[in-house]
Amino acid sequence: MSRSAPAGTSAAGPDLAGFAHEWAVAIGDTALVPLDWPGRVEFLSGLAVRLAGAMTARTFDATVGYQIGTELVAADFTDPDTLGATVVLLTGRLPAVLGGSGVRARRRLAELVGALSVGHARAVRDRALDGQEAVRRAAVEARARAEIALRVAQRQLLEASLHDPLTGLPNRAGLHERLARLGTVEDARTGQDARTAVCVIALDAFKGLTDSLGPRLGDRLLVTVAARLTAFALHAGCLLARLDGAEFALVVPGSAGPDEAAKAADRALSVLREPFHVDDHELRVRASVGVVHGLVDGDPVEVMRAAEIALHWAQADGGDRWALFDPDRNAAQVLRYQMSAALPGALSRGEFTLAYQPLVDLTSGRIAGLEALARWQHPTLGELPPDRFIGLAEDTGMIVALGLRLLEQACQHAARWQQSCRRPPYVSVNLAADQIRQVGLTADIAAVLERTGLRPNQLQLEITEGSAFEVAGETLATLRALADLGVRLAIDDFGTGYANHVYLRTLPVHGLKLDGTFVRSLRGKRIDARDVAIMTNLIDLGHVLDLTVTAEGVENAAQAQRLQEMGCDLGQGWHLGRPTSAERVGRMLARFQGGGRRTTRPLPRRHR
Ligand code: C2E
Ligand code: CA
Ligand code: CA
Repeated sequence: MSRSAPAGTSAAGPDLAGFAHEWAVAIGDTALVPLDWPGRVEFLSGLAVRLAGAMTARTFDATVGYQIGTELVAADFTDPDTLGATVVLLTGRLPAVLGGSGVRARRRLAELVGALSVGHARAVRDRALDGQEAVRRAAVEARARAEIALRVAQRQLLEASLHDPLTGLPNRAGLHERLARLGTVEDARTGQDARTAVCVIALDAFKGLTDSLGPRLGDRLLVTVAARLTAFALHAGCLLARLDGAEFALVVPGSAGPDEAAKAADRALSVLREPFHVDDHELRVRASVGVVHGLVDGDPVEVMRAAEIALHWAQADGGDRWALFDPDRNAAQVLRYQMSAALPGALSRGEFTLAYQPLVDLTSGRIAGLEALARWQHPTLGELPPDRFIGLAEDTGMIVALGLRLLEQACQHAARWQQSCRRPPYVSVNLAADQIRQVGLTADIAAVLERTGLRPNQLQLEITEGSAFEVAGETLATLRALADLGVRLAIDDFGTGYANHVYLRTLPVHGLKLDGTFVRSLRGKRIDARDVAIMTNLIDLGHVLDLTVTAEGVENAAQAQRLQEMGCDLGQGWHLGRPTSAERVGRMLARFQGGGRRTTRPLPRRHR
């Protein structure tokens, strides 16, 4: 077919090829189809033939028009203008081409054109719907792809968040995740002995090392340590993670017991003792390990906390060792912590009181002095002895405030006895080492004496052998100032430390209190002559230096007797009187020492 083919009828029949050509020209501008010109004319010729067939068929079938409308759309002749041009051409030209314009032909043509229009319109609509479907499907697919990409990214992020960038090992979060999983496994095999153990390994003094070597070398050392520990962990079937800084965690799954966990810790320690070679340096590191056996309720946070506590114990013991977590030890520590936290409140509420124990003249039985012993009237735990809180107060620095408060209390009581009693006993107050080091102690004590009206020689301060001999310079000056104030000074627990007896001469002290352990050796039927010799020597030493010697821990009459024979001046102990309240002491003094009467024997039993 050529573009120049004429349109019209001929004797040979309708010129359908020419008609098709005309048709192609009519819709030419309206359609944007992939077919080239000859292809279009050929396609339209085929349609023209079928239309002509329908027009002239014996039985008319309008669906041909419908199909042709559909096929036009299928060939991408979808534009409404294409349909318009086609309708105009068919109605205007087809009857002429076919050579018939009777009523029947006009009716058939109208039906065909109508059906063609409907077919075209429906096909266009269906195609639009299909297009929407495709768009919808594309959207769904795009969303699915985005979700997959997001999941991959999330996974990568999660992986990164669970790993330590320096060593590539699981980090704390990664470790927790694995421990939680192991905890579930452990729960599932309840009844079996094998449990998961965790060792937290920390390099000792790593901070000092990086300070001197620089952070980069420090990092390289950590990587090398991580590599060595990884090799060890692989060999031992364990999992390794890096916690913060120079801390690693070794998870020992299926550990048979604390011994096996401790063995793993021991081996890890010895692996680390081998020197490390980083750059040109040979580095030696030591480590400490905290060991926990069995996952505490499978809660990774609790497990790690327990392991860190045990690690702290190992470090506090000097490092280069492991320590196994012990719940009882931990509970005691927690209690200690709670107690020390409660000290300031207890002091402000006035919960600390004093009990007084007599220092008795072993010859006359007279009460020469009374030692003030601290007690804590705890609101829930009841009365607590000093070994439950004095150490804590010393550790936290509270002892300075507490000691001064107790001193004031003791002076108030003693001032009262001073008034009710003809020969009042002095009050003997324990002074902690920190108090002696405190600048202004003398001024504080002078102020207390002033406030309470107690004569200075009615106050004795007990300082332990250790703190007395540690004093030098300013603190020695403090002791001199106190002595100048007229206050008595006694060395407490004498004989237990490493006192330099020559130095003792230079100290402005008035008395020695021999530690209870010496008196204890005087108990029983067979008394070691050497113990007697030591005691006698100590008493003599005190007397040579013109000091009053008091023996502590006198628990029976035989001990009191022997001490008196040895020349000991005073005794203190359950046999001579138990620590008792200020009120009872006051009543007792008024009764036995009020009129200057002296007790011939140690105190009557009911006052002990
Ligand atoms: P310390 O100064 O050696 O006090 C004597 C301790 O021995 C007292 O214990 C006393 O109750 C106990 N004791 C008395 N007689 C006997 C006996 O016959 N046998 C035995 N086995 N023990 C006897 P306490 O009251 O528990 O005081 C313990 C320690 O607490 C005191 O030892 C002292 O170092 C310290 N302390 C007590 N009160 C204070 C205080 O106010 N300040 C300071 N810094 N320390 C205090
Ligand atoms: Ca004492
Ligand atoms: Ca003592």
